[in-house]
Amino acid sequence: MQTQPSIQFSKRLLYNLLYKRPPISDLKKIHAQIIISSQKSLTDSLIHCYLRTNNVNVARILFNNYPFPSPPTLVWNLVIRAYSKLQDDAYKVFDEMPEVDVFSWTSLLGAYVNGGEMGVASKFFEEMPVKNDVSWAVMISGCVGCGRYAEALRYFGELGKSEHNVKTNEAIVVCALSACAHLGALDRGSWIHGYIGKNGISETSNIRTALIDMYAKCGRIDCAYRVFDRISKPDVHNYTSMISGLSIHGLGEDAIRVFNQILVDKIKPNEVTILGVLNGCSHSGMVQQGLLIFYNMENSWGIVPKIEHYGCFVDLLGRAGYLAKAFGVVKSMSIDPDVVVWRALLSACRVHRNTYLGERIVNHIGQLDSQSQRGAEILLSNLYASLGKWDSVSILRHEMSKQKNQADIGCSWIEVNGSIYEFRVADQLHPQIIEIREKLSEILKRAGLVGYAANINYVSFDLSDEEKEQAVAWHSEKLAIAFAFMSTAPKTSIRVVKNLRTCEDCHSALKAISKVYDRQIIVRDRSRFHTFRDGKCSCNDYW
Ligand SMILES: [Zn+2]
Ligand SMILES: [Zn+2]
Repeated sequence: MQTQPSIQFSKRLLYNLLYKRPPISDLKKIHAQIIISSQKSLTDSLIHCYLRTNNVNVARILFNNYPFPSPPTLVWNLVIRAYSKLQDDAYKVFDEMPEVDVFSWTSLLGAYVNGGEMGVASKFFEEMPVKNDVSWAVMISGCVGCGRYAEALRYFGELGKSEHNVKTNEAIVVCALSACAHLGALDRGSWIHGYIGKNGISETSNIRTALIDMYAKCGRIDCAYRVFDRISKPDVHNYTSMISGLSIHGLGEDAIRVFNQILVDKIKPNEVTILGVLNGCSHSGMVQQGLLIFYNMENSWGIVPKIEHYGCFVDLLGRAGYLAKAFGVVKSMSIDPDVVVWRALLSACRVHRNTYLGERIVNHIGQLDSQSQRGAEILLSNLYASLGKWDSVSILRHEMSKQKNQADIGCSWIEVNGSIYEFRVADQLHPQIIEIREKLSEILKRAGLVGYAANINYVSFDLSDEEKEQAVAWHSEKLAIAFAFMSTAPKTSIRVVKNLRTCEDCHSALKAISKVYDRQIIVRDRSRFHTFRDGKCSCNDYW
């Protein structure tokens, strides 16, 4: 019988193997060789490799049985970071550390942020004895990640104070700009743009993408285009940000023009680019171009349509009145249609006053299993209501009340004199709420003079999330606008950002207000920009 010659691997060779980031199957073999040749000094690299392949438990065993007195701080930090999904364990590791440095603190902060425990994270952050730029980036990006935009900007402002002596990095700037974009905080966003220049922060591609996005979402597509135009060789992200910006402004032809430029530059568009340009086609009624892009996306650029692309495509067809074709696309989809797709389809039925197809679609949704119906309940309930099927309405409403979602509460933001104010539906919290409501009543009364009448029996064919906001009169964008009237000079434009789609009642109220008070009102809702001027809206009442 032949025996295998025993091969001893040298330390150098084993180290090189680990350095190549082996997959777990190879890693186990290398680990075995390390045990055989008792190369204990490779433990750190081994722990690192196990953590990288998500084998936290093996890493922890090696860590707990560390062959030397204590692992170096770097290894401790790696282990804490690996536990970022399990805060208690991360904390335990942190607590046992003989020596902590700024990276250990930051790793544990990251654990709290990743776990979504923002309350604990911010308290922990305040208590940190040392902070570096990474700690600030973790905190600010954490706030942005869970929708605490105003808080993110507060931290960004705090960072600027000289006592911290921390240099702002790219991640911090990108997150702060993203917070401004969400809030529509133009003044703050432009200030950050200036800050980048003054502080010698190099305008990386990520920063430029964020600047374009910020300006576009704050209603200044001209500034967004100026940033884009200055880039000598735009990459796919710069292009995508520009195209999406043009689309939400209803500038479909410009979006197509920039999209053609990306193809001339021989840059491969990604799925977000395609979504942006489809959206632009949809908002501008460019059916042919939209069809061409949708049906070629897989062949030309290897992008398989996702649910978002279908939603956009169905919207495009529906808006243009190709209702049957749109329904056909939905029925033949390779993935289950979601609520966005149904909404697009049913909104089209409403606008084109096709109750027959609307009813057929409702029946179709009714036959789907409850999983596929999820999220379509409000839509269905509105549809049943419009068809007078009240039994079905009450059953659905009962189901819905059991699963109320915080994220669906209407909320608007407005920037006045550099500060950001948040309004929620039927707000009771704002210190000036009584005056604001009085002002609003006065404004709505005057709006009534040009034909605005509150739509109290508001029943929409469409899934309007606003349905959840009980009192139409106290919708958050109306409150924000009343506040703007109290705090700004007559005739200045008002910019409001709303987290949901704006409802029909607010839409007609804002049209009337823009006429009576001769003010331009710009509202960015979840789907697009609405510029109200002289009694009309830029969306031509289709949103
Ligand atoms: Zn409303
Ligand atoms: Zn509009």
